[in-house]
Amino acid sequence: MTSIADTPASPADNADPAELAKFSALASRWWDPASEFRPLHEINPLRLNWIREALGGLAGRRIVDVGCGGGILAESMARDGAVVRGIDLAEKPLKVAELHALETGTDIAYEKIAAEALAAREPGSCDAVTCMEMLEHVPDPESVIRACATLAKPGAPLFFSTINRNPKAFLFAIVGAEYVLRMLPRGTHEYDKFIKPSELVGAARRCGLELTAMTGLTYNPVSQRYRLDARDVSVNYLAAFRKAA
Ligand code: SAH
Repeated sequence: MTSIADTPASPADNADPAELAKFSALASRWWDPASEFRPLHEINPLRLNWIREALGGLAGRRIVDVGCGGGILAESMARDGAVVRGIDLAEKPLKVAELHALETGTDIAYEKIAAEALAAREPGSCDAVTCMEMLEHVPDPESVIRACATLAKPGAPLFFSTINRNPKAFLFAIVGAEYVLRMLPRGTHEYDKFIKPSELVGAARRCGLELTAMTGLTYNPVSQRYRLDARDVSVNYLAAFRKAA
């Protein structure tokens, strides 16, 4: 396991310090499935399956997980045999991720580095990129998408998830999740940072990525269950792309 580089994020990094501080403040509860991170724990098997099926298995695949946080997705992919590297710019979540991997005996490399910096250092180096629930926290999401595209080998798949921007998404993702059901702390999400599927696809296309699949991720507050639903991308959704060969 590599150690987290102790280099502070440079001002040039495409990151919002308030966003990173928010995730650092909650980091100790990252692996508590009853905490603020419960939604990530609950959606993880769904997204893991989706990625695994798109890749035709994870064994031996070199995957970079951008904005990995405490490592919920990163660790699950590594447990399925992928060679995972998790990167983030928030220090505490990375420390929690490292510690958890140590406890579970999962071989995984975490590093505090911006996607843009890793892409400049190691272009074309990975078989797949995942970047989940992260773009809506970043000042310039297209810069992250471009970095992910640069990191991937020609022909490689890339997976993004984020939140749509429309009145229903405002009602469900902010009013519902933060104020009514109180699943997430208030201020977790900012409406203006949400990304419409057309915007994600447009940005990805400008970065040389072609859409291969998209699916919604819906939450039923009565059953308290999430599921993938290809017909409903109105709130949370996942999109898969392929880098031009
Ligand atoms: N991808 C993980 C964590 C999502 S939470 C999962 O889905 O399970 C959002 C994460 O994005 C946090 O860990 C936060 O620190 C990270 N993040 C926010 N802005 C970032 C940036 N500019 N660069 C890298 N990571 C960032």
